[in-house]
Amino acid sequence: MDVSNFRKWAHRAADWSADYLENVGERPVRAQTKPGDIAGKLPVAPPEKGEDMAQIFEDVDRLLMPGMTHWQHPRFFAYFPANSSPPSVIAEYLTAAMAAQCMLWQTSPAATELETHVLGWLRQLLNLPESFQGVIQDSASSATLAAVLTGRERALGFRGNLDGLAAHPPVRVYCSEQAHSSIDKAIWIAGIGEANLVKVATGDGDALDAEALEQAIRVDRAAGGCPAVLVATIGSTSIGAMDDLRAIGEVARRHDLYFHVDAAWAGSALICEEHRHLIGGIEAADSFVFNPHKWLFTNFDCTAHFVKDPNALVKTLGIQPDYLKTQGEGGIDYSEWSIPLGRRFRALKLWFVIRSYGVERLQEIIQNHIRMAETLAQKVDAHPDFELTTNPSLSLFTFRYAPPGADDLDDLNARLLQAINDDGRIYLTQTSHQGAYVIRFQVGQLYTTEEDVEMAWTVIKQLVGGLSNANGGHSR
Ligand code: PLP
Repeated sequence: MDVSNFRKWAHRAADWSADYLENVGERPVRAQTKPGDIAGKLPVAPPEKGEDMAQIFEDVDRLLMPGMTHWQHPRFFAYFPANSSPPSVIAEYLTAAMAAQCMLWQTSPAATELETHVLGWLRQLLNLPESFQGVIQDSASSATLAAVLTGRERALGFRGNLDGLAAHPPVRVYCSEQAHSSIDKAIWIAGIGEANLVKVATGDGDALDAEALEQAIRVDRAAGGCPAVLVATIGSTSIGAMDDLRAIGEVARRHDLYFHVDAAWAGSALICEEHRHLIGGIEAADSFVFNPHKWLFTNFDCTAHFVKDPNALVKTLGIQPDYLKTQGEGGIDYSEWSIPLGRRFRALKLWFVIRSYGVERLQEIIQNHIRMAETLAQKVDAHPDFELTTNPSLSLFTFRYAPPGADDLDDLNARLLQAINDDGRIYLTQTSHQGAYVIRFQVGQLYTTEEDVEMAWTVIKQLVGGLSNANGGHSR
């Protein structure tokens, strides 16, 4: 494709994108296809000769769109949001056109300096300690892995060789039962071993219990273990549980643990002053992560990772083979702060989003989401056939259908969820809480309105009418 053709098709892509966003609300939220439906329509062999762009575009609509789940749908209430927004998409177009590698300062000075700059803006917006310095990672999972590796290295002595790991007292890592599975993965990848991940009991509000943590650390020390890392969660994936950073940070300080805070979803809400109390005590943390790609309207991938001591991160992840050495003066080489070497110009989309919306509008959108979730939670709570199983934590609550006299509520709710997602007008997902199957409801998509949330409630109430209850009765 020559550049003049590129211009034509790039315009077409812009039109396609605008049409998509204008009409996405008319599509079923979750793809309604069966496994293999899409693959079965694709040619087995790649084309020998280049194909016509018009045909390729047509095939996107005809072959692929039926199999897409629409994360930008205003009635996407599943998982956590993975928002995009027009300014972010535009920045992604530019990023893709330049396709720069931003691994070293020299390979793209503007990208590096903008990254430092926008993370400085985020640090101000969340009122994080000024000593924190930021880097954009591809995912919260990578940031947490980097934190676990840094904590492991600190405990073993930097570049503690892995031969030494077998001889070393087992490195112990602590988190709550609510913590995200990315912590389990980080433990596996770091070679620490699942047996050394201690999932500490939770207390009030499903927060990690500081006394239980203290106790677990003492027991481990007495048994010859090496307590090394604590991962706190602000906004757990299941139910939005919040750990008390002050209480557990004090334990981390007392035992000299590397203290990482995972606020992957909830972190965006901290741009609103009224929620900043949720990270009271953050000064004790060594690192903090949140995902603008979840709730700050910036396309995946974009994870903001803040660290108190960049040197510790660089000592853990930095490597300078001859072919990466640069001459002359330079700035930060962010590849030394990250697991992959190659890095996209991710700061550009954050810069576009923050400038284009402005802080006040971003705050307002998040505040609206939280209000909408609270309003619906009240309705659910007031309905005699439904139970609010966890109160709203920011914009997430859980509930279940529990009509009087029904038994096997887990099965009933699993069937309700299936009916909801097969219906397609809204999309919800499940979790378990205190041993019960519950349905999650989160409001966080950029385009969601009160009418969308109201429609969700209507759909749920309609669909329970079609379920036969486990006790043989029929719902009201
Ligand atoms: N931590 C929490 C609390 C999450 O909810 C999630 C994803 O939902 C993650 C970590 C992982 O995020 P990522 O997909 O950016 O790795």
